[in-house]
Amino acid sequence: KRTITRLPEWLKTPIPSAGANPEFAKIKADLRGLNLHTVCEEARCPNIGECWGGSNKAAATATIMLMGDTCTRGCRFCSVKTSRKPPPLDPHEPENTAEALARWGLGYVVLTSVDRDDLADGGARHFAETIRRIKQKKPTLLVEALTGDFMGDLDMVKIVAESGLDVYAHNVETVENLTPYVRDRRATFRQSLKVLEHVKKVRGKEGIITKTSIMLGLGETEEELWDALRELRKVDVDVVTFGQYMRPTKRHLAVEKYITPDEFELWRQRALDMGFLYCASGPLVRSSYKAGEAFIENVLR
Ligand code: SF4
Ligand code: SF4
Repeated sequence: KRTITRLPEWLKTPIPSAGANPEFAKIKADLRGLNLHTVCEEARCPNIGECWGGSNKAAATATIMLMGDTCTRGCRFCSVKTSRKPPPLDPHEPENTAEALARWGLGYVVLTSVDRDDLADGGARHFAETIRRIKQKKPTLLVEALTGDFMGDLDMVKIVAESGLDVYAHNVETVENLTPYVRDRRATFRQSLKVLEHVKKVRGKEGIITKTSIMLGLGETEEELWDALRELRKVDVDVVTFGQYMRPTKRHLAVEKYITPDEFELWRQRALDMGFLYCASGPLVRSSYKAGEAFIENVLR
């Protein structure tokens, strides 16, 4: 099988430095001492300068990982470490996270987590508790939760959906045909659609924004991608993001194709034409990419 090793020009980006952007430097300095673990820093995300230091401070976005660093699943695109029995949850995490976020100068936070299939509720109550405490301490902070599928347990989806968050995100990650090869075998495209559908059932079609993310370059065909988008629109998913799949290590799935910036722009236009409220699409886009800015521009306006 063909393996692409050369990185195209548009993916060779400099890691942003604090010196280039004073706002970014300030947010980064504020973070010290708050004991918050951001995915942005830990994954050395190339978008950190844009997400943390855009011109509008109210739109500054960061992603926080809850419930530890060890996942009970093993998706073939993901480099998070896995175990059947990760360490127990930290019962102080909801309060500490909320306290730290209330003090940090962010406008929008994405809370995400590893999958915790070992817990009876999949961590839904922990998620919900964290969101409630954030909203108690800083009601103006916009909160997005990016959750797993809770093994299809819709009661758990409801617990998170009713916790006061502004955006509920759950990633389908790829098209339906590739799902068995890309995601952990416990995940299915249909199950993920049901999660997203249920959020709207619980909160009402206009009551909450739902969002999903698709990695491109895993070998999906155009037709498969069209199908995926149609299915997502059928359950009223509001926002979709597209980014390039990047292979974390040689043990992970190979990149089948590097999608050009023009193709990303084409898919962004197509998504908007299909009725998605907004769409972030680009080689380096992650599901949380400038999420605060997009929300403020498209939802609050
Ligand atoms: Fe953080 Fe996500 Fe932005 Fe990367 S794209 S800097 S992980 S908020
Ligand atoms: Fe990674 Fe999420 Fe899959 Fe766990 S469930 S392996 S964190 S992508």
